[in-house]
This record gives sequence, C-alpha cells and structure tokens, in this order.
Amino acid sequence: MPAKLIMPAKAKVPKNYNLLRGFKDILPAEQRYWDFIQQRVYKLADDYGFSRLETPILESAALFIRSVGSDSDIVSKEMYTFLDQGNDKVALRPEGTAGVVRSYIEHGFLNQPQPVKAFYFGPFFRHDRPQAGRQRQFWQFGFEVLGDSNPVLDAQLIHISYKFYAELNLPVQVEVNSIGCPNCRPAYLKELTTILKKHRKNLCPDCQLRLTKNPLRVLDCKNKDCQAVLTDLPQTVDFLCEDCKKHFVSVLEYLDELEVNYNLNPRIVRGLDYYTKTAWEILETGRDGQQDSLGGGGRYDELVNELGGRPTPAVGFACGVERAISRFKNHDIAVKQPVRPELYVAQLGLEARKKCLRLYEQLLQRDYLVAESFSKDSLKDQLEAANKLGVKYTLMIGQKELVDDTVLIRDMESGIQEVVDFKKILDYLPKILSNRVSNSRTDK
Ligand code: AMP
Repeated sequence: MPAKLIMPAKAKVPKNYNLLRGFKDILPAEQRYWDFIQQRVYKLADDYGFSRLETPILESAALFIRSVGSDSDIVSKEMYTFLDQGNDKVALRPEGTAGVVRSYIEHGFLNQPQPVKAFYFGPFFRHDRPQAGRQRQFWQFGFEVLGDSNPVLDAQLIHISYKFYAELNLPVQVEVNSIGCPNCRPAYLKELTTILKKHRKNLCPDCQLRLTKNPLRVLDCKNKDCQAVLTDLPQTVDFLCEDCKKHFVSVLEYLDELEVNYNLNPRIVRGLDYYTKTAWEILETGRDGQQDSLGGGGRYDELVNELGGRPTPAVGFACGVERAISRFKNHDIAVKQPVRPELYVAQLGLEARKKCLRLYEQLLQRDYLVAESFSKDSLKDQLEAANKLGVKYTLMIGQKELVDDTVLIRDMESGIQEVVDFKKILDYLPKILSNRVSNSRTDK
C-alpha cells in the first residue's frame, strides 16, 4: 500500500482543483473505445493512402481568423485566444484544416506529387456552451486531400467519412450540398440577403447580425423562429455556375456508384468561410431534435491561396471522436474487450521478489500476457488480485521455492498446484497453455 500522505495540521488544501468546465479526463475504462477508433482511422488511412500529419495545438490566432473567418462562430465566439509571454496573439486550434494548409505551404508540399493525402487525430478547443455532445476540448480525426480538384476526391472523402460509421451498422446519412464558388455565390448571397431582410424581425438576434456579416450561416440556424423563415428561401444549388454544377453532379454520380446513403440538403452550408462547392455533414438517422452532426467537411479551393500558397484546390472532413464513442455505446457496437492476462507472478519475501522480477521479464520476452503486484507483501492479497484478473495460472516463489530453485504453479480454476523446476519453467508453460488465444499485448 502506498504510504499515506499526512498533511501538517495547518496546511491549507486548495478547495478546487477540479476539471475545467467542458473538459474531460479520458479514463482507463474508456480507452478501448479510443483504441478502437484510432485503429479504424488508421485502417481507413492505409486503405485509401493517407499519411498522418499532426500540426501543433497552439498556432498564431491570425491563421484561424484568416482561414475560418472572423465572423464565424468558431472564431468570433469560441476560440481560445491569448497573448503569450512574447506578446504574440496565439490560439488553441479550434479545427484542423487551417493547420494542415499552413503546414502544406510551409513545408513545400506543393512541389511534391499531387494530390497530398493527409490525416490527423487529436484534440481541438472551442469555448462552446458545455452540454451533451459539446465539450470545450474534444477530439477529431480528419482527412484532407490537397492539390487536386477532381470531384472523385470529394466523393471518396464523403465515402470514407460515411463508411467509418456505416460499416459498423450505425444508421447514418450524408447530408450533402454545394455552396458554389466565388463566381456564383455572390449572386446567391444577394438574393438571399434581399429576402432575409424582409424577415429581419422574425430572425433570432444572432441571425440578425449574420444577415450583414455571414448570411449563409442563417441557413443552418437551429432557432425555431429562424427555421420558420427558412422554408421558402432560394437554394444555393439553383445559383451554381456551370463548373460548380458539373462538379456537384459528378460528386453525386460517384456517391451513387459507392452506394453512399445521401440526402440533398440545401441547409448544409458549414459555418466556416473557406468552403467552396461541395459541403456535407454526417448525421445519425432517427435522432429527431438531436441532430448534432457526427462529422462534416467540404471543398476549400481558395484556402491555400488565401494563406499565401499557389492556388491549390483541396477537400477534407473532420469527425468528432467523443460523439462517435457516445453513438457506439448507444448502439452497443462491439469494441474488443481488453485482453486479460493469462499468468500472474506472485512472490513472498525480498529474495523471492528479486527472482520474480527476473522471471517476469523472461515471460514478457516470450510474449506471455502476464500480471503482477510486486509492491504487495501478502500472498493472500496477490492471489486475490490474480483471481480478479481471471488469470489461468499463478506462478509463485516463496522461501521454499527459493531454496529448491522451483516455481509453484497454481491452476486458478481447480486450485491444483504443482512444483516445476525453475530452469524448466519456460519450456513447461507452453504445454499447459497450449490453447493460448492471443500472444500479444497490443491485440486489444
Ligand atoms: P465542425 O468542424 O464544427 O463541423 O466539427 C466536426 C465534428 O467535430 C462535429 O461533427 C462533431 O462531431 C465534432 N465537434 C465539433 N464541436 C464539438 C464540441 N464542442 N464537442 C464535441 N464534439 C464536437
């Protein structure tokens, strides 16, 4: 047992070292979900030729202001921004695409064979109002393809983001739209703003502001009053230029080919400035009233140029890890159980403990799944721990075994014990564990 900390009588214990609001620990019991998701992400990345690219959590605030847009909710309301010790204005990254694009430009990926396919898996930060499905630190995995404008890439990415859930039989649907490009969007925005202005009084205060700053955002407002206004609005797809129209039709044809369950949804505009053409979100079907998306993405053909690179088309998506986990739990998606150890090494006495430390290393070298509690002195406590873990055999060394140079092997189910020569133990174990299922700790 660890020694108890005895506080001096007058020491002040600070009252609140609790987690910040909207932040969560990822506890050991949860890890198998995280491993499961990470493994699926790596599998998809391998299958479709993506390489991992991790950018820093802290970047210059200007990067996000320029790319995501100063009028977006993410930047104007939710970004963690502060001056660092050098008086530089920095931000905790609220999303992944801007960093990937910065990295693409900074490391000269433009000069490599295109397209460049990258994926990431990490934490992001938004000072959102904490509620179910919304945290201030959350994790995303994202896939980005830079340097190619072919619509087959939009379809491939939509397919990957869909497949991540659909392959597990989660009921999901892709909501897809095209929001046009700098050629055709202005005409749409003009028409939209004219109509919205007539309904100004019926819009929520946020949308009244968006009307002048970011009218497209009014389309995905969840406020009931705004929803009523939105029913008869013009749709972006009716204003697309020839190029955008052709692109969108191709994307949909590829999606049909890939048998993606999609729905044309004129309300999908995404909240960020950098999107052009294709925009999509992944929703779980049958969750009326709780339509928090599982993920979303879009094309961003102007962003590399906006951030100082050559004009470079690109497309990508990001999905929330915590939201995926919550759906996996709701739908009882089978995530592999942690692998249980098969052997336990128990010791009684200082010299026996030393011998057991060595034995433990030898067992690990042979890839046995093995457990111990070397800090415990009592054999009873150790056997209890072995029982809890459900191991098949406990290998015990006490005073007698030390003297005889043997090991006492206890079958934990039958309680039968046998004495084996210490030197022969490594040859003996395969015989009694002949039906071993797994020989790798990483096989979780
Ligand atoms: P977005 O870039 O806002 O579309 O976010 C992509 C995905 O990240 C969403 O579909 C969610 O799954 C997840 N996500 C975004 N914001 C949060 C948040 N505050 N808490 C948890 N997950 C989030």
